[in-house]
Amino acid sequence: MHACAECSVYVCRVGNREAGPDNCPMQTGDQTDQLPVYEDPEVREFARIASLIEAVGYGRWTRLEETMELAKRNGFTRLGLAFCAGLRSEAKVLSRVLKANGFEVVSAMCKTGAIPKEAIGIRDEEKVRPGTVEPMCNPVAQAALLNESETQLNILFGLCVGHDSLFIKHCRGWVTVLVAKDRVLAHNPIGAIYLSDGYYKKKLYEDHR
Ligand code: SF4
Repeated sequence: MHACAECSVYVCRVGNREAGPDNCPMQTGDQTDQLPVYEDPEVREFARIASLIEAVGYGRWTRLEETMELAKRNGFTRLGLAFCAGLRSEAKVLSRVLKANGFEVVSAMCKTGAIPKEAIGIRDEEKVRPGTVEPMCNPVAQAALLNESETQLNILFGLCVGHDSLFIKHCRGWVTVLVAKDRVLAHNPIGAIYLSDGYYKKKLYEDHR
């Protein structure tokens, strides 16, 4: 099995196909040669522009600026914004920024549909706040709404773990993530990794076994 995450040489970074470990994907088969996929003009152009943005904005552009450049350079004018109710104030600001930069913005909040969680088998005691009406997050509907509007690039903005998966699975257009929700770490999930040898050691290596 491939395990790039456990590699210690990373020779792919310097263009060397030969010196990887025995289970290096470049040694064990041809799955790394996906150039036929990149021959699709749409994929090729998207990949080319993504690489250009990486270089031009390197260490200079915020992710939000990179996202707008990705859209602009691809000629996209209509953006989708799939956001979490918990970030509704921030989504309002984001929508304003995107519009100020010339984009048309179609947005859909996670609770759209107002369907009670009971509809997907959640019992009252399993809710965040038992005893209350709690609409389910509805990422499939968010995707359907953006699909209906034929948005060209869809921005994920703080959807929950799993709800983001459902959105990505059902969205037809390109998807990019601007904010990954982390209610504990101010939407900065990599903080858990940075603390994994310290304060979060037990939490990460033992508590969830
Ligand atoms: S592709 Fe090979 S060299 Fe690159 S990280 Fe994976 S195992 Fe290491």
